[in-house]
Amino acid sequence: MSFDVDLFVIGGGSGGVRAARTSAQTGARVALAEDSRMGGTCVIRGCVPKKLMVFASEFTETFAMAREYGWTADTGAFDWLAFRTKLHAELARLEGVYHKILSSNNVTIHEQRATVSGANEVTLADGTKITAGHILLATGGRPSRPDIPNAELAMVSDDIFDMDALPKSILIVGGGFIACEFACIMNGLGVEVTQFYRGTQILRGFDDEARGLVADMMREQGVNLMTDTNVAEMAPADGGMSVTNTHGKTQNFERVLFATGRAPNSKGIGLEEVGIKLAKNGAVEVDEFSQTAVPSIYAIGDLTDRINLTPVAIREGMAFTETVFKNNPTAPDHDLVAYAVFTQPELGTVGLSEEDAAAQEPIEVYATSFKPMKSGFAGRSSKVLMKLIVSKATRKVLGCHVVSDGAGELIQMVGIAVKAGLTKEEFDRTCAVHPTMSEELVTMHNPTRTA
Ligand code: NDP
Repeated sequence: MSFDVDLFVIGGGSGGVRAARTSAQTGARVALAEDSRMGGTCVIRGCVPKKLMVFASEFTETFAMAREYGWTADTGAFDWLAFRTKLHAELARLEGVYHKILSSNNVTIHEQRATVSGANEVTLADGTKITAGHILLATGGRPSRPDIPNAELAMVSDDIFDMDALPKSILIVGGGFIACEFACIMNGLGVEVTQFYRGTQILRGFDDEARGLVADMMREQGVNLMTDTNVAEMAPADGGMSVTNTHGKTQNFERVLFATGRAPNSKGIGLEEVGIKLAKNGAVEVDEFSQTAVPSIYAIGDLTDRINLTPVAIREGMAFTETVFKNNPTAPDHDLVAYAVFTQPELGTVGLSEEDAAAQEPIEVYATSFKPMKSGFAGRSSKVLMKLIVSKATRKVLGCHVVSDGAGELIQMVGIAVKAGLTKEEFDRTCAVHPTMSEELVTMHNPTRTA
């Protein structure tokens, strides 16, 4: 049977664009539909604009610290609209780059919504039907709001980049990546930040000691972080929202941001109708090769809720191309993925937390927390953490957790060593780079504790 195209990709985010490009490069005839802006969550309303806001927000402390180092500069004020204009210009540039990547690889772009109308057919919003040898679903996810009255009046992370002005005060609800990153960003930009987290400690799932230090540092920098607290009721109020928390206290905030998780974009695109299985949370169920219950249809990225990170979606996309178009069945490797939370300071992590490792086997923990030279000199009491989790039996480093400025950059490198299965003794054979914070990772000779 001949099809209009060999591959139809639905979704122009990181995973979809990569799979479309690498598949087209094998000679396959590829089309891709995106009903929003090319680049998806990461480029348009996630990692990229977020990181630029992190950079903008860090200048407050840089300027303040400069004065501690003898500079007399007057810092002036932050101009949100000037920043926002540049931010949107940069996003438009990147969107153009994504378009170009696809068109220069002969991928046909449909700037409209596509739904699956058969195992080998998609239907575009304008009614056009296109048949395809394979369909790749890469529709990502979207922010979800709690089911409480007036929740729709609050912002979600998509809305942050379009604000007309920085608010004077903001309530951020949630304790995950997005909540903590934006709490630090807003705090750095001079907004009064209150954060509610319903559990006992933010960043659930991360190493306890590491997330504890991040929470301490956020509080020290001025974030009013309230754990075991959630929104009970909210209503519009003069100049913002009136929020009553689960302890009965009512406060006004100019803005409220729900950073309460993301849901896969799997509804209303014909998936269940053709026999694709969805998990309870709406994620598309796939096998190790990203194949759905319908053999001609694959799914990658946040839609499948495996590890919801851009680089993982990209690798899932490339593994798809290997499997389907290069006759080389390849399961994406989800083991020992390093990542970072861009709080201030950052949290970089790879492998097992102390708690998870101890539940699995006997371990040694090597950890040191200290005042770094740079901020110590400036009279700050902030601390960093360098931590290794080591298997007693194999001596392999099972996990590494770093809380410090630049931890994202650092954990990328440590990730290579941990992924390679290096032992503690191999870390120790590496000579220190002095004076750095990370030299501690190769100079901790005695375990802090065993478990
Ligand atoms: P997360 O799953 O990380 O965090 C969601 C938070 O919201 C949790 O603290 C959760 O609490 C809380 N929550 C959920 N429902 C409610 C509710 N009804 N009321 C109050 N609180 C609630 O999601 P994010 O949206 O922050 O991020 C989504 C994903 O995107 C991340 O998991 C990550 O994979 C990715 N991401 C990665 C980044 C990076 O690499 N730096 C940056 C941003 C996002 P509880 O812990 O109790 O469940």
